Amino acid sequence: MKIKALNGFKDVLPDEVGLWREVENQAREVFRTFHFSEIRLPILEKTDLFARSIGADTDIVEKEMYTFVDKQVTMRPEATASLMRAYIQHSLHTQKPVQRLFTIGPMFRHERPQKGRLRQFHQIDVEILGSANPRVDAELMAMAAQLFDRLGISVSLEMNSLGCPACRPAYRKLLLEFIESRIDKLCDDCKRRSTRNPLRVLDCKKPACRQEVESAPSIIEHLCQECSEHFSVVQQSLDSLGVSYQLNKFMVRGLDYYVRTTFEFITDQLGAQSAVCAGGRYDGLIELLGGGKIPGIGFAMGIERLVLLLQQKNELKGAGNGIDLFLAGLGDGASDFCYQAMHELRTLGFSADMDLESRSLKSQMKQADKAAASYTLIVGDQELEAGKATIRNMATKEQKEITLSSQAIATELEGGQY
Ligand code: ATP
Ligand code: MG
Repeated sequence: MKIKALNGFKDVLPDEVGLWREVENQAREVFRTFHFSEIRLPILEKTDLFARSIGADTDIVEKEMYTFVDKQVTMRPEATASLMRAYIQHSLHTQKPVQRLFTIGPMFRHERPQKGRLRQFHQIDVEILGSANPRVDAELMAMAAQLFDRLGISVSLEMNSLGCPACRPAYRKLLLEFIESRIDKLCDDCKRRSTRNPLRVLDCKKPACRQEVESAPSIIEHLCQECSEHFSVVQQSLDSLGVSYQLNKFMVRGLDYYVRTTFEFITDQLGAQSAVCAGGRYDGLIELLGGGKIPGIGFAMGIERLVLLLQQKNELKGAGNGIDLFLAGLGDGASDFCYQAMHELRTLGFSADMDLESRSLKSQMKQADKAAASYTLIVGDQELEAGKATIRNMATKEQKEITLSSQAIATELEGGQY
């Protein structure tokens, strides 16, 4: 019996890896220009880290975590909590007043798998720690927008403010009154959550619930002075950087730790999986996890969804998998030469491959095509004796005769790169 991958766990095959690398490379390049450093974090953490930071009433903690119950450890469902843990554990705040960090890797959530929704998925996670300045919020969103631009993906930015512990309780009360007036019409999840965390009702994806809360009071109209000022500066800063956005009063985000600015970049190209990037400010989180009173803001992008969008544009498929040279040797002597030359060229930094099974020229040319080789070297035993070989530019189909030596081949390959 054949063993298959688990439901919701996906192999990324070589054809698709080019797109993954494109996303990751562009992200690294943009983050470098915004002065971010990379951090790499473990996949397994104490369950308590997530329960405490993400919040007990959230979908993630309630039903989506992969937990080893006997060991009280969990495969991370997101990266922010782990990154905060590392930041506190290594006292990173003492190295720089403002830390700008990013990490890329797999996350695990036991959800119902669908297009763009997996159980092992990958995030690019970005955090700025140590600044409460609203300009930082705008800078972070502008950076994400720049990455989408570079990738040629069109998305729209939606933003909200969730207030802070000073103004949220009063709004919460108001919202609860509103919800209670129509509780019968809401789904069971919403009913259950309404008393514990009424804001989560605004986030329900069920159309009936959405319709019911349409006229709910908007938190933006109930912000305290500080939160209101913060939110205005965020908007002015986005305007000054030329980043467009829309306000969305229903966006509360599925994690409990957010305060003030929250945002999502959404697409209409992926059905229900519309969010490609989501984030917000979490000024109390570091303190909640035993660190100092240090503010922070961050976002996470889902790589699978970005790759789907790139695939839908039908671009760059398999990009980056081609080789510089395929060596086609005909006859034993020619094969021996190719085998050694291939190694020398690889040592010089060229990617090269050959056929080791003495197949026909026709078959070797087919292999060169499949390998997406830029050049093919063709050597028979006669050429070998004459010290010559034919090199073929696979794109232009031009052929020319060159001296049979690794150096001459290298010069030819280099010439082709400019
Ligand atoms: P959604 O509303 O789609 O469930 P979320 O609010 O749970 O998203 P976050 O926890 O904020 O998402 O994660 C940030 C990003 O990670 C999402 O915008 C999405 O692009 C991606 N993401 C989240 N869950 C998954 C998943 N199960 N499979 C693939 N990508 C995901
Ligand atoms: Mg989710």
